[in-house]
Amino acid sequence: MIGQAPDPYIGRFAPSPTGPLHFGSLLAAVASYLQARTNNGRWLVRIEDIDPPREQAGADQLILDALQSYGFEWDDRVSYQSESANLHQAAVDDLLQRKLAYPCQCSRRMLKDVPVGALGPIYPGTCRDGCSGTEVAIRVRTDNEPIEFEDGLQGPIVQRLESESGDFVIKRRDGLIAYHLAVVVDDQQQGISEIVRGVDLLDSTPRQIHLQRLLGFRTPDYLHIPVATNRDGQKLSKLTGASGIALDAPRPTLVAALATLRQAVTPELEHSTLSEIWDWATTHWNPAQLCGLASVPDEQDSLATGKNGLR
Ligand code: GLU
Repeated sequence: MIGQAPDPYIGRFAPSPTGPLHFGSLLAAVASYLQARTNNGRWLVRIEDIDPPREQAGADQLILDALQSYGFEWDDRVSYQSESANLHQAAVDDLLQRKLAYPCQCSRRMLKDVPVGALGPIYPGTCRDGCSGTEVAIRVRTDNEPIEFEDGLQGPIVQRLESESGDFVIKRRDGLIAYHLAVVVDDQQQGISEIVRGVDLLDSTPRQIHLQRLLGFRTPDYLHIPVATNRDGQKLSKLTGASGIALDAPRPTLVAALATLRQAVTPELEHSTLSEIWDWATTHWNPAQLCGLASVPDEQDSLATGKNGLR
C-alpha cells in the first residue's frame, strides 16, 4: 500500500551474565548481528540480569568487552533487564487482575510425583481455584488450543501448553520474575521484530507466544540457530566446561564461528582484518545453510588443525 512504511527490523542479543562469552553464545551474537545488518536493521544488546543467584559478578562487562574486541557495533546503549522491573511486575499484576494468572503455593517437593513431559514436570493445576499459602509463586493459566508458529530455520512448531507444560511460573516463590515473562515484556518494549537465538530455546517459544497473546503484544519472527557441540557431541555451555572466547586473537575465532554457522569461509579470510571479515560475512550471510539443523560441530578445532582443508 502506498505510504505504508515497512516495519523496521530490530534484532537483539540477550546474554545472561552467568560467565564470560563462550563460543556457543558467540554464534547467537554473530547470527543475530548478521540478520540485523543484512536487513538494514538495528541490533540491540540486552543483559538479562534478573536471576542474581545464577549470575557472576563482572560477567556483564566481560561479555561486553568480548563483543567489542570482536568488532560488534550495537545501536543505542546497552540495556539491563533489571531496569524494567516495574514493567515486569505491571505485566504480572495485569494478568492477576484479569484472572489469567493465580498464586500457587506448591513447593517442588509437593510436585515431585507429577508427570514429566518433554518440557519438564507438567503442573496439574492444584492451585488453579485458589490457595491459602503466603509464600507463593504466580502461574499463568494455559489451555489446550494449539500454539503454532513457523520458525525461520526449524519450520513449523506446535505445542498444546496445558497438556505439555501445564500452567507455568511467571513469578517465582523467591520473588524473582521468571525468564519467560521478562523476555516477552522486554522484547515488546524494545520493538524487537525478529528473535535469533539458540535452538535450546525453541521449546520455550510457545510459552512466550502464549504470554504475548494474553498481554496483547505482537509476536516477533523467530530464527532458532543450531547449538554448537564439542567433540563428545555435548552442547557447548558453562555446564560442559566451555571457556570464554579468546579476546586477544578474535579473527580466527570469528572465522570459526562463521564456519560453524555453515558459511562458506575461505582460507584467506583468517588473514583479513576484523572489518574485512565482517564485510565478507555481511555480503555472504546465508542462514538457510542452517535449515533444520539442531546442532553443528564446533569448527574451532578443525580450523586450528586444518582438518577441514581450510589451511
Ligand atoms: N538470556 C538467555 C540466555 O542467555 C537468552 C534469552 C533469549 O535470547 O531469549 O540464554
